[in-house]
Amino acid sequence: MNTRRDFLQKVAASALILPLPSWALSAPKYDGPVLRVALMGLGGYATRVADAMRDCKKAKLVGAISGTPDKLTNWQSKYGIPEKNCYNYQTFSNIRNNPDIDAVYITTPNSLHHSQVLQAAAAGKHVLCEKPMALNAKEGAEMVAACKKAGVKLLVGYRMHFEPKTLEVIRMRNSGEFGKILFFQGLCGFRIGDPTQWRLNRELAGGGSLMDIGIYAINGTRYMVGEEPVWVTAQETKTDKVKFKEGVDETIQFQFGFPSGAVASCLSTYSMNNLDRFFLNGEKGFAEMQPSTGYGPIKGRTNKGELTQPHATHQMVQMEEMADIILNGKQPIVPVDGEEGLKDLKIIDAIYLAVKTGKKVPLNL
Ligand code: NDP
Repeated sequence: MNTRRDFLQKVAASALILPLPSWALSAPKYDGPVLRVALMGLGGYATRVADAMRDCKKAKLVGAISGTPDKLTNWQSKYGIPEKNCYNYQTFSNIRNNPDIDAVYITTPNSLHHSQVLQAAAAGKHVLCEKPMALNAKEGAEMVAACKKAGVKLLVGYRMHFEPKTLEVIRMRNSGEFGKILFFQGLCGFRIGDPTQWRLNRELAGGGSLMDIGIYAINGTRYMVGEEPVWVTAQETKTDKVKFKEGVDETIQFQFGFPSGAVASCLSTYSMNNLDRFFLNGEKGFAEMQPSTGYGPIKGRTNKGELTQPHATHQMVQMEEMADIILNGKQPIVPVDGEEGLKDLKIIDAIYLAVKTGKKVPLNL
């Protein structure tokens, strides 16, 4: 009997074409529903997502929204996007009349997420939104409410929630292999370049390193410890007041306490390169990951040995899983919905408050 695998192997064996990637040989044919996605804000991360989506079966890039006309022309030819599925920020609300787009993925600067999610929801489209979901918990709660009211799903681009080595550590913790969890350390940072970029502009970024990279330590603390924190303390350090203006944090250290008695200690910075390390310690064992949240491959080991789960492009896996969540109601192991994004925003609010007051701030997630 001729199988799809036989066919693909024969095709790959023919001398005149490029060899097929290994996933194509092992992947079963997919003829289920496909989530048709439009990307909004065609910058660095959108390009990474678009490239990764070439390998998706359940999600397909079909549309684009941009303030730069040249980019729309480019993306039409580069990704095969029809002109009728292209919009700018002024024409975007017409997307409501386009039945060929199911979801909008927002990859613009942080301060634009709130209004753009509200617009996408009002147009009746499911929304995927990059981290941080918004600038603060008030905006986040409005976004969750608007999507609920419009009957659309709101998901946040937490790609680590689908990463195999991360999920293995979570599995081991849940099955008690580390014993009672006592301590977590999350260190996240990089040395930021161009001082004119939006990430260093308070209006667009909503803050500094904490909004951009420290959020990985905040979110990581929660999925690694497996509990919600009940208090936070925080301290800010600024060595360059020209580059990091008022309201743009350079380095923040923060600490959490959990109901079980576990504690966590984290660092977020724009002034140290390659800082990407998680360490989880329990009564019976530990997990350490470095790199822990970069694009991978993620590396890590536990008291039982090296983590060996294979690497796959994070954005590809994320889009496949998010398509399953939206189309088939799949429940992810770690949530990626608006409520999850809102919890991180409540923590961000509390960290900034703790920096300002020097006090321990209670958390009620
Ligand atoms: P870029 O600056 O590379 O791209 C942002 C794009 O947004 C621009 O290219 C532009 O696209 C559009 N835009 C609209 N208004 C503005 C404005 N006023 N200033 C600047 N750009 C504007 O940023 P990134 O792609 O790195 O980041 C975008 C979002 O994705 C952020 O929220 C960030 O936190 C998140 N991100 C997430 C990552 C992850 O791993 N999950 C990694 C990197 C970023 P156009 O010209 O098409 O309008």
